[in-house]
Amino acid sequence: MEDSLALMSTAPHPFFTPHRITVGGLLAASYIAAMWLSETYVPHPAALFPASAIALSALFLEGIEFWPVVYIAALIGSLLASFPLVFLIIMPIAQTLQAVAGAYILRKAKLDPLFSRSRDTFWLIGTVLFVSLITPFFSSFGNYANNAFSVSAFAHPIAVWSLRYTGSVFCLLILTPFLLRWITKPGFVRTTWEIVEIVCVFALLIGTTTALFIGGVAEVVGIPTVYFLLIPLFWVALRLLPRFMTLALLLISLIAILGLYVGNTVPDPSVFPTRLFQTEEFLIVIAMIFFIIVSLEEDRRLNSNLLQTQVAALENAVARISSESNAKNDFISILGHELRNPLAPVVTAVDLLRAKQDREHEEVEMLAMMEDRLHAVRRLLDDLLNISRIAEGKLSLKKEHVDLSAVLKRAVLSTAHHRQERHQTLIFKSPEEKSLFFYGDPIRIEQVFSNLLTNASKYSDIGDRVSITVKKQAKEVEVAVSDTGIGIDPAVIAKVFTPFYQAELISRGKRGLGIGLALVKSFVEMHGGRVRAESAGVGHGSQFTVWLPLGAAAAAPAKPVPEEASRMVAAPTRKEGGKPSVLVVDDNDAAAAGVGRLLALKGCQVTYGYTGQEAIQKIAGLAPDIAILDIGLPDMDGFAVAKAARAQGFLGRLIALTGYSTEEARAKGVEAGFDHYLIKPASLADLQRVIPEIA
Ligand code: ADP
Repeated sequence: MEDSLALMSTAPHPFFTPHRITVGGLLAASYIAAMWLSETYVPHPAALFPASAIALSALFLEGIEFWPVVYIAALIGSLLASFPLVFLIIMPIAQTLQAVAGAYILRKAKLDPLFSRSRDTFWLIGTVLFVSLITPFFSSFGNYANNAFSVSAFAHPIAVWSLRYTGSVFCLLILTPFLLRWITKPGFVRTTWEIVEIVCVFALLIGTTTALFIGGVAEVVGIPTVYFLLIPLFWVALRLLPRFMTLALLLISLIAILGLYVGNTVPDPSVFPTRLFQTEEFLIVIAMIFFIIVSLEEDRRLNSNLLQTQVAALENAVARISSESNAKNDFISILGHELRNPLAPVVTAVDLLRAKQDREHEEVEMLAMMEDRLHAVRRLLDDLLNISRIAEGKLSLKKEHVDLSAVLKRAVLSTAHHRQERHQTLIFKSPEEKSLFFYGDPIRIEQVFSNLLTNASKYSDIGDRVSITVKKQAKEVEVAVSDTGIGIDPAVIAKVFTPFYQAELISRGKRGLGIGLALVKSFVEMHGGRVRAESAGVGHGSQFTVWLPLGAAAAAPAKPVPEEASRMVAAPTRKEGGKPSVLVVDDNDAAAAGVGRLLALKGCQVTYGYTGQEAIQKIAGLAPDIAILDIGLPDMDGFAVAKAARAQGFLGRLIALTGYSTEEARAKGVEAGFDHYLIKPASLADLQRVIPEIA
């Protein structure tokens, strides 16, 4: 309300602002001057209408409301040129109409007066060709009405009409873009070298044009001079762009018209109209061609700039995504590591509780269930870490000659509890040949098949059948894991290997992380193999087939003694036959106590340390058979402790027990002198593997 009152109380904006008065004055003065010049110096029936370009440009740039100025200026110009009465009446109307129509079309088409897109050039050319019909139409009508024309050669109305049409097109086409471009943005910034280039090109252009149109030089070394004109024009079009093209065409036109009055090419007055007409036609063609070339070039330049900006934006986006993804991978690694630590004492506590003999049946079952769940959590953590390491390209394989049959048996055994729980049967079909050797990482390949077997059991009903079929082919082995379970919709089957993908409805209630199959695919491909999922549809079971390249069985050497094992030989326990003494070092009391109590239960003599320095001192002072070291200690890391221990001559067994599970960390462990590298949480079984004396 207040707003509208305020609006109402505001004084109406005055129409005659200083700006408008200046524009109107300039328009009228330049229009009258141009009309007087052309009417005075261009003999009839030759036609040249520079004033029409001035009017069209002014109405386009300043607004169509300036049309009365055009009308009055045209009327004054007609009076000065002493037009007969009929022309005095119709020509100002025709001129005004032409300027209004042209300005209206170009404004509607949202023409960019800087001509930075090719569409602007095409709109300008189209508009000029169209509005140029207006004045010839009126003047032909005037001729009829007045019968003013008596020059016989041009008495034919079509001839007069085409002279006037060409004159109008020529003036509008050459002068309008020049006025629009230079008035809209008169200033420009160029380097000194660019200015030198501009001056050179224009010197060449003016020289050639003058020779051609004023000097009358028709040929240079047998080549028509007009061809030489094309050189600076192409140069301007490709290097100097629209602004200088409008100037170049205007200069050529001025020199060409000047040539009709001075120099060697002045025509006889009787052929002046024809010569002007021919010159205009030539210049119209040249102007059209070069305006189009320059605008296409400008288009190309803008598009290539746009493309470069977009490519830069894309590069930034990719960099951002990859840094975000790195941050995510780092987060997953840290999360995995941090989750392992609190899990460690729980795992050892469960083992401890199980070790007690007089458990009730119910308690034993509960402990088994706890152990099973802990095992599942460990698997999930491992999978998460593996997938982030694969994404970072940091996962490496520990390849050796492996017997696939043995690997498959281990996978079958490690997943047996899933099938037992669900009362499922397993059918194992293997070729006669006992051993199928290939070169690969046995741990990863076992993981591939235990993932497939776990899924086969998980996505099948109670009592269903899971089968695993091995076929030996010429150079590879094919292993198919199939089930008679819920199957996979063919529409989503291609996505099941994508990380974190889970088929929505059918997986409900069977949630995992959706990374098992992604790992399967990555591990298989890292071995030079391939994997395929097939299903006849929902409810019809699934089959996952893995192909792995086979190594020649004969060439397969006996399983090499791993470095770990060789170190084990070099580091015998001191008490032959007896239980070893063990130093457990971990800054987390609960974790240290968990492992220590398990070992004590198995008869080991256990001492504890909580810092790196303490560990070094106790290793030197107590000379234990085995030292189990955490890596993340408060004062120094476990690697440094191991190095120091080895440096002071410790020959016992060194075992790392840590949440750092990366390949780099393992490699550092070997380098530091560790015999074994265990990942937290370690179960009794894990400890027994590296300390066989307590098995
Ligand atoms: P997860 O089992 O943790 O969801 P996976 O990567 O192992 O993740 O499997 C991805 C998806 O593929 C599963 O969620 C399930 O929808 C589908 N899938 C995998 N194996 C089978 C199978 N044997 N039968 C039916 N669907 C399966």
